[in-house]
Amino acid sequence: MAVLVGAVLGSFLNVCIYRLPRGLSIVYPASRCPHCHTPIKWWQNIPILSFFLLKGRCSWCQTPISFRYPLVEAISAAVTLMVVVQGGSILHMIWAEGFLLSLIVAFFVDIDFQIIPDSISLGGIVWGILGSFAGASLIPSAQMGLGILVCGGIFLAIALLVPHGMGGGDVKLAAMFGANLGLTKGLLAMFLGICYGSVIGVLLLAFKIKGRKDRIPFGPFLVLGAYTTYLWGGEIIRWYLGLTGF
Ligand SMILES: [Zn+2]
Repeated sequence: MAVLVGAVLGSFLNVCIYRLPRGLSIVYPASRCPHCHTPIKWWQNIPILSFFLLKGRCSWCQTPISFRYPLVEAISAAVTLMVVVQGGSILHMIWAEGFLLSLIVAFFVDIDFQIIPDSISLGGIVWGILGSFAGASLIPSAQMGLGILVCGGIFLAIALLVPHGMGGGDVKLAAMFGANLGLTKGLLAMFLGICYGSVIGVLLLAFKIKGRKDRIPFGPFLVLGAYTTYLWGGEIIRWYLGLTGF
């Protein structure tokens, strides 16, 4: 059930990834081929399966369909399965799904457009505040409030001090981490994001996949940092405190 629901939600995430940065409605019209605009029939719109039924092409104009569509649906199915296996209250699972799945949208939109939609970052801050007060995120309200201010504040300071160092979208995304993960884990997510960005950024330059003048979006690395923190943040923090002798 979790995998099925996750795959269907993943199909909706694909709609958001395509339409949010283009300023289109996410509910209307129904899915259509972005090339020939032929509406997609129900059997062509089954998550993951339809991509293979259609052999990766629009049945009308034969334009190739990006492999990213089934990939996003599979990731969403895996994340949803993880959330259900981890368990907790229904409210906790709903909060976790909203937080984790919206980050998948931020990840791919930032790769495509070098922006993070406000509906994800600012909406995610509201989601984290509600999640904390409802007891869904299990983050105490002080951790949540400080998380928004400090996580967002650090990146805001970098954005103001270092020209072209950081975009406003990254600042709002950091505040969104603070809202949903709390101060401690929010900071860890940002730190891990910077580590991933540095290592992968150097590799992209070394293998000449990206040039010095290309802008490499930072959001995807921050999202990977948030996922690592969500999955293993507690262990990482305990390991670090053990190292430092606290
Ligand atoms: Zn088509």
